[in-house]
Amino acid sequence: MKSIDTLTPCPCGNAAGYTQCCGPLHDGKVADSAEALMRSRYSAYVLKREDYLLATWHTSTRPPNLNLGAQQPAPSWLGLDVKRHETEGDEAGRWYYLDGSFPEV
Ligand SMILES: [Zn+2]
Repeated sequence: MKSIDTLTPCPCGNAAGYTQCCGPLHDGKVADSAEALMRSRYSAYVLKREDYLLATWHTSTRPPNLNLGAQQPAPSWLGLDVKRHETEGDEAGRWYYLDGSFPEV
C-alpha cells in the first residue's frame, strides 16, 4: 500500500502529486482559487478527510456531519472534471463550498 505522501498523481488527478497539490490544503493552507478548493475537496472525499470537508463547507449549507464511513450505499466517485465555476464575493479571501448541481444524464 502506498503512503499518502507518495500519491502520484494526486487523487484529484493532478500529475504533480498529493504533496504538491491537495496535501498542503488538507494541512491548513488556504485554497487560492475555487478550482483548488474543489480539487482538494474531491481528494478529501477519496481520502475520507471528513474534517477537511466540513471545514471548507459554508456554514449556511453545511450538514452537522458526513458519516463518510457509514453511508449506504457508499458514494462512488468516478473522477473529477472541473467544468465551470462561478466567482461570487469571497469572505475575507477564503473559498468555501456552498452547493453544487449536477446535470441530468
Ligand atoms: Zn490534488
